[in-house]
Amino acid sequence: MTERGDTNIDSYAGMLAAVQAFHDKHDFKSTGGEELSYRIALMTEELGEISSCVTKGKSTQDLAEECADLMILLLGTAIAAEFDLRAAFWGKMDKIMVRKSRMINGRIRVSEFLD
Ligand SMILES: [Mg+2]
Repeated sequence: MTERGDTNIDSYAGMLAAVQAFHDKHDFKSTGGEELSYRIALMTEELGEISSCVTKGKSTQDLAEECADLMILLLGTAIAAEFDLRAAFWGKMDKIMVRKSRMINGRIRVSEFLD
């Protein structure tokens, strides 16, 4: 187990606690930082930064940092909207692991494929 202070950095709970501390530090709950439409805009912004890393040929380290930005926002959105992202993650993994895949235009796609 890896520790940072009293937080297990390898656990979902540890990551969630760190993001909660970040929200608390800046009082996001009462300053608009947990308003969902604002959070969607911020997540979109970070997704654009991830895209830019790829299209501009930036380093893997830069890509990792932008992915971390998005992950922090996702965890924060779970806090803001009061849902269990850990449970949602494992529930979704269970679903996608039994889905079929198809090659579409030379790339694999995993989906429900209702047709
Ligand atoms: Mg960023």
